[in-house]
Parts: sequence; C-alpha cells; structure tokens
Amino acid sequence: MSDNARPEIRFQGAGVSPGIAQGAIHVVRDDLDDVARYHIEPSQITNEIGRFETALIQTRVQILEMQQKIAESIGAKDAGIFDAHLLVVEDRTLIDEVLRKLESDLCNVEWVFQEVAANYAETLSKIDDPYLRERALDIQDVTKRVIRNLQGKAPKTFLALTEPHILLAHNLTPSDTATMNKERVLGIATDLGSRTSHTAIMARSLNIPAIVGLHNVTEKLETGQHVLLDGTNGLLIVDPTPETLTYYGEIESRRVKVVTQLKELRETKSTTRDGRHIVLSANIELPDDIDAVAANGAEGIGLYRTEFLYLNRNTLPTEEEQYQTYRKVAERVSPDPLIIRTFDLGGDKLAAGTVDVSDELNPFLGWRAIRVCLENTDILRRAMSILNECKEELRCTGSTSGDATEAGAMIEIPSAAISADLLAREVDFFSIGTNDLIQYALAVDRVNERIAHLYEPTHPAVLRLLKMIADAAHANDIWVGVCGEMAGDIALIPLLLGLGMDELSASATLVPRVKRAVQSLTIAECGQLVDETLKLQTPSEILDRCLELANQRYGDLLG
Ligand code: PEP
Ligand code: MG
Repeated sequence: MSDNARPEIRFQGAGVSPGIAQGAIHVVRDDLDDVARYHIEPSQITNEIGRFETALIQTRVQILEMQQKIAESIGAKDAGIFDAHLLVVEDRTLIDEVLRKLESDLCNVEWVFQEVAANYAETLSKIDDPYLRERALDIQDVTKRVIRNLQGKAPKTFLALTEPHILLAHNLTPSDTATMNKERVLGIATDLGSRTSHTAIMARSLNIPAIVGLHNVTEKLETGQHVLLDGTNGLLIVDPTPETLTYYGEIESRRVKVVTQLKELRETKSTTRDGRHIVLSANIELPDDIDAVAANGAEGIGLYRTEFLYLNRNTLPTEEEQYQTYRKVAERVSPDPLIIRTFDLGGDKLAAGTVDVSDELNPFLGWRAIRVCLENTDILRRAMSILNECKEELRCTGSTSGDATEAGAMIEIPSAAISADLLAREVDFFSIGTNDLIQYALAVDRVNERIAHLYEPTHPAVLRLLKMIADAAHANDIWVGVCGEMAGDIALIPLLLGLGMDELSASATLVPRVKRAVQSLTIAECGQLVDETLKLQTPSEILDRCLELANQRYGDLLG
C-alpha cells in the first residue's frame, strides 16, 4: 500500500506495452554495478567459491596489466599505487570472511563479497590513521572490479529474482528480456529505449506492461519503493495515493472489459466491411510465444524472429536443433502458415559467443542480418539456391511438400523499397519491416529515446516508400504484408489497408484490436484516405487524418 505521508511522484516516459502493473520495484542502475541478493543451496557453495577464486585471479591479472601500462607510459612510481590494490585481492582476512559468510548466509557470492568488503572498508575508514583510510578507498575500488568480473561470468543477477517485481533498468538488452524470470516480472520500465526497440517488442509479446525513455529515473528511485506503472500512457507513479489507485482500478476494469469483448472475435475472420479478407498473423520471438497466436485469433505466424535462438549461448545452434525447433512451431501452427525469417543479428540484437558482431561504431549500418549470413556459408548458404536444392532433394524422395514453400524478402531498407520492382521478380512475397524501414528512411535510430519524437511512421517519405513497395508487389502478382510495429498500431490500419497490404502481422496480444479495426473499415474509404494523405505535407497532418477515420470507426479502442 502507498505511504500516505509521502506525496506521489510521477515520471513520464513512452508507454510501449499497455496495461497497469503495481508493486515493488527492483532497480538495475548499471548492469554491472547492480548486485542483487539471491539464495543458494548448500550444494552450490563450492561453485560460488570457484567463481570467487576465478574473479580474484582475473582481477589480479587486470591490476598487473594496468600497472605495467602505467609504468610504461607514466613511470614506475605512479604504477606503485596499484600495489595496495594487489594487497586487497590477496588479503586473507577479507577472503576468509567471505568464505565463512557464504556458508552461514547461503547467498550468492557477489552479494556476500560486497557486504564483507563494505564492512571492512567502513571499519578502516573510521580509524584515525591516514594510511588505513587510504586502504578503505583501495578496497572500494577493487571490490567493484571483482564484482564486475564475477558478473561477467555469471548470469545477470536481476534475471534470477524470485519475488514478483517491477523491473526498473537503465537499459535492457533483448538477451536480458529473453532470459528474465517472466513469471516474476510484473512490469518493465527503462531509462532508454523507444517503441520499436526489441525490449519493447518483447514486452508486448509477453503481455508485460512497459514504459521506456524515462531518461534518468533509475538514478532517482531505490529498490523496494512501491510504484504503479501505466504502460498505456507511459506513466510511472511512485507511492500512488489512494485516489490514484482508485482511478487506475476503474481504468483497469474497463480495460479488462474491452479485452473480454475482443476475445469474442477470436474465431471471426479479419474481413473488411466491404468484403476484403486481410490475412492477420502474429509475430513471435521464442517458441514459447506460440500459445498466444491461436489464443488471440491470429491466422498463423507472419514473422518468426529466429535470431533469438542465437542469443544467450556459447555455441551456434546445429542444423538439427533448428530443424526440430522450426518443425515444432510449424506443427503447432498448422494448417495456418509460418514465416521463418533467417536470423537478423546485429543492430541491437547481439549474440556474443556465437556470432560476434559487436564493436562496430554504427551497428545498425554494419554487419547485420543477411550480410552476416552470406559471409558465413556454414550458417546459411545463398538463400535461394539452398532452398531450391532442398526442394529438389524432397522431390527426389517423392515428396512434393517443399513445392508449397514460398520464399519472400523482408523489405526494411530504402534501397530495397526503391528497387522493389526488381526484387519482386525474385520472390513469392514481400514482408515489410517498418521498424527498420522508418529508422533508415528518416535516419532516426529506433532505440534512441533522445530522438524518439522524430521517429514518425506517418512521415510523407515513409508513406511513399510503402506505396512503392505495395504497388511493385501487385504489379508483379505477389502478395505483400507488414510485420513491423506499424501493423499493430490501430491508428495506422486505415493507411495500411488503403495502400493495399494483403497481410498484417503484429504481436499476438495486439491482434484482437487489429482485427476489430479491419472489420470496422472499408477498403474504399481507406483507399480514399491514402489518396488524400499523399497530398499532405507533414507527419502530423497525415496522422490526424488517420486518427479521424479510426476514431469514427473504433474510437472506443483508441481511448
Ligand atoms: C522490422 O524491422 O520492422 C522488423 C519486423 O524486424 P525487427 O523488428 O526484428 O528488426
Ligand atoms: Mg527489422
């Protein structure tokens, strides 16, 4: 419950996954400096001691290297200050106390070490002796380094939290989101990020309310504070008053009502009022997401982001492992279709340990996606030739099942959009990745919250590119869909239908809303909207026009 003595404090960010969450926050300021406490079993003590010893050795090596560099560049005298640091990693009293406390407290070693080192440093700092006070500072410095080394080897500790909590982090990587204890995370809030960052996309898939772009909120709050997170409006409310809680209680019950009504659409078709069927499918990241596909009434999977198979591991998935994983997903979704995307590593999805695409100045413009695949023929040989080869192999065994497999191209960069007429001759369909297409067309990094206001899906340039792609597809008799976040934004559905999109693929949790939007519109009115908006000058004019139509047809959903 809220503490009545304290006034509530509100922080505004961008709401990226709708819903309301309430509870204690767990603050992760900096991945490396955050030290969580978790219980270990007596059988794990040996392992913790091993990790501790390795971290001490690593720290010693790092200090020696640093000492050497400083000795070479500045001189041996200055390098001598690190002797005191070396004494800390060899300090028997400190080390023995950590080992003793590990057994008595049964907590993870980074927590125990931090506690022991902090006590030790505090005791020394109180002694009236300048030499010992200096030692206290050395201990603090070395403690940080040892903990960094411990955390470099260990899974991030916040991922192992077992109490329900709202995760408040400076930033979360897609690997963090993929491995966190999802049952325990009630909500997510981050300093960085934007609507199309992969953490936001994952939060929507997992149906966890989330806010990003809160700037420096992690510096202002502490673990354990009570908050209310409004993922629809991007509000993080600390110590909410009883009035706020009542207000949100009412909103939540209205929201639940709308969700219940939308559930009733599950078995209905996504057909417009003038009879055009739009294929409505769902995006998934992990095989576990499949349950949500049918549950939300989607017709199959329009985008399977297979790169998540490559994250959080040290070896590449084998061909057999991939086959089994894809097969399981295909069988579960059958007879509806499954679109498997060849991995798109790079950008904000880095797979250290398997495919090392880190250390680039501009990773979004770097070695990513098909560029990585085509240089690693072990991972993927030239896509079309291997696909044809496999189809031939199947034919030789008397099976024609491969013939039904279509091959499409993701259109995510302006050059592909502009030459869509050429690409359309090579493939069976286009799937437009608007998240990337917009960032590349407008030169606005999709994960940079500082410029998030410039990331405008209704920019006239984006509208023109989308039209170019759709027209090129249809002129070449292939179908075209949108699988970026635009497809889940009900304000923009009139635009996408008017442009002639045949398929829309969104996070499963957004599918029911999109279906209601499709069922409420006519292709004729959407076509007219596109004709009008193509004449408009600014993103906001185009957005207003879309909102006007959306409001007339399904205003209750927008509210
Ligand atoms: C996109 O860019 O729109 C897309 C669907 O791919 P991702 O979000 O995985 O980059
Ligand atoms: Mg993309």
